[in-house]
Amino acid sequence: MQIILFGPPGVGKGTQAKLLAEKFKIMHISTGDILRRAIAQGTELGNKAKDVIGAGKLVSDDIMIGIIRNVITSNGCKNGFVLDGFPRTVVQADALKKMFSELNIAIDAVIYIDVDDDEIMNRLKYRYSCSKCHSIYNIHNDKIYDYICTECGGNLIQRDDDKPETVLKRLKVYKEATAPVKKFYEDEGFLHVVDGFGKIENVYNKINLILKN
Ligand code: AMP
Repeated sequence: MQIILFGPPGVGKGTQAKLLAEKFKIMHISTGDILRRAIAQGTELGNKAKDVIGAGKLVSDDIMIGIIRNVITSNGCKNGFVLDGFPRTVVQADALKKMFSELNIAIDAVIYIDVDDDEIMNRLKYRYSCSKCHSIYNIHNDKIYDYICTECGGNLIQRDDDKPETVLKRLKVYKEATAPVKKFYEDEGFLHVVDGFGKIENVYNKINLILKN
């Protein structure tokens, strides 16, 4: 199973990708998580990505395409994968298409999760994640106590780039660089659009229905 999930920041790609990866026993490839891990470890990649992410901009296509090639050809992806956060530009989408054709990989579905800007601002303002197990919370809706993860007891923290001023920049970058990827996959005939409003399980069910068909 090879799935691409995409859409604006905060639509729930990460949450849905995690559920799909568990269900189909495939790898969840989150390029944002890969970069944040590299930053936490202070690697060369992390040092390059830190300021770019903090500014709400995109890491260069060359770097991202290199990362994806390494992950996709790794053993962990033998059963398939769900891509979350890649491709984010038409250059990346084009490189992925070539990579898939070279590696004989077929995409099962490209799923675009759709919500409007107001909802995104609202969701990201309240999005916190566990510093240990990376579980995601909405501190407005979820029952949490003292910013402690109910899964593992780790501390809940807000991503620097989820602060409202950076979210506005990320939305602008999304519209300029990433929105055209939707047209790319429409033209390829792979695109499915899912309404991302509402409960996590409802969105998940809609995605599963698409995958079933
Ligand atoms: P995410 O967790 O997917 O929202 O990604 C966080 C940040 O990592 C983005 O705002 C970008 O700065 C960077 N990033 C993640 N994936 C990509 C990508 N495919 N291309 C460029 N930058 C990326």
